[in-house]
Amino acid sequence: MTKILTIDDEIEFTTLMQAYFEPRGYEVLVANDGAEGLRIAKKENPEVCLIDLKMPGLHGDEVLREVLLHNPSIKCIMITASEGEGKTSEKLKEMGAYTCFDKPITSLRNLENTIKEALNGG
Ligand SMILES: [Mg+2]
Repeated sequence: MTKILTIDDEIEFTTLMQAYFEPRGYEVLVANDGAEGLRIAKKENPEVCLIDLKMPGLHGDEVLREVLLHNPSIKCIMITASEGEGKTSEKLKEMGAYTCFDKPITSLRNLENTIKEALNGG
């Protein structure tokens, strides 16, 4: 079963990810802060990490860096605020993020398709 780790300080978001992906056959691991997310990523080696950029404590870009240092094959999708931060998105991709999604996510099906693409080496 494909393991997805969702790291977000908003419980509503991680709950939504569980509600959407679990019935579709994914195992969904949840962390509500960056440090916890990093700990779980290192222990569980999920295929995919959904990482919120703006979190108190360990920020999403630091989590991204640490996750990829630990295991570069984990596909990291960054969840960013929709502020037209094209520069942020470019920077995150340069750091190794697979892609970025703006919050609120308007299409969970798009997110799922992106995850499938990432897993198929796209
Ligand atoms: Mg946040």
